Amino acid sequence: MAESSDRLKLDDQYTFACHRGLECYTSCCRDVNIFLSPHDVMRLKNAIGIDSGEFLRKYADIITVPGKVLPLVQLKMDPDNDKKCFFVRDHGCIYYEHRPWACRMFPLDEHGEGGFAISPSPERCHGLVKGNPWVVKEWLMDQGATQSKEADGQWESLATNQLLNEVEAENPQIQQMIIMALYDLDRFRDFVFNSSFLERFDLEPEKIDAVKTAEIALMDLGFAWVRFGLLGQKTLKLKQDTPAAGAKG
Ligand code: SF4
Ligand code: SF4
Repeated sequence: MAESSDRLKLDDQYTFACHRGLECYTSCCRDVNIFLSPHDVMRLKNAIGIDSGEFLRKYADIITVPGKVLPLVQLKMDPDNDKKCFFVRDHGCIYYEHRPWACRMFPLDEHGEGGFAISPSPERCHGLVKGNPWVVKEWLMDQGATQSKEADGQWESLATNQLLNEVEAENPQIQQMIIMALYDLDRFRDFVFNSSFLERFDLEPEKIDAVKTAEIALMDLGFAWVRFGLLGQKTLKLKQDTPAAGAKG
């Protein structure tokens, strides 16, 4: 069995089975740091049936990191209930099908380029003591972690963009723009359709329709706007742009 300190690759095996009846059951959903991606927030707020603003207010902490322009969004633990996740019950996670990427990964975590580690010890996570053999890549597919990570490709690429280091860090206005465009989709939709956004940016009618009706298209527009505003990339076209002005699209 792989030990918690071992570094695993996609084709490596480890042993794990999590189920009710274990003494540790649901203990890992308490007092834990879970960072949420834009897709994590979108999935959870839709599963709960609330808008993104309410989700961020009730269930998330927005964290700014010194020297970094990109804010982090963390799942809030309930201070009035022993720091448990708001979504855990005795029988498990009430939004299990919609749980964040980090919860899908557990007990694995990413460890270096292309590597994984078992994060809890077997003393803490009893499912590691006696379980089924899993190949890492099959576990990640089975849990939807691979699919979730692929969906967040744009977020990863933005978070690892070197040019971001040159953007004025810790500017509250920029950070609010990022939060709105990527995480607070209901507010961003309102902003797109009830501000001068569509007068300033040249979007094709089909794109406008898609943004109106599909949150994935809205989030794509959010990423395009953040890249345009933060990195100066030509991900959006200004209406006054002309070929003579050098817009390359
Ligand atoms: S600690 Fe491990 S075995 Fe226990 S509930 Fe959490 S994931 Fe399952
Ligand atoms: S979202 Fe679900 S799986 Fe993740 S910590 Fe909360 S209760 Fe546990």
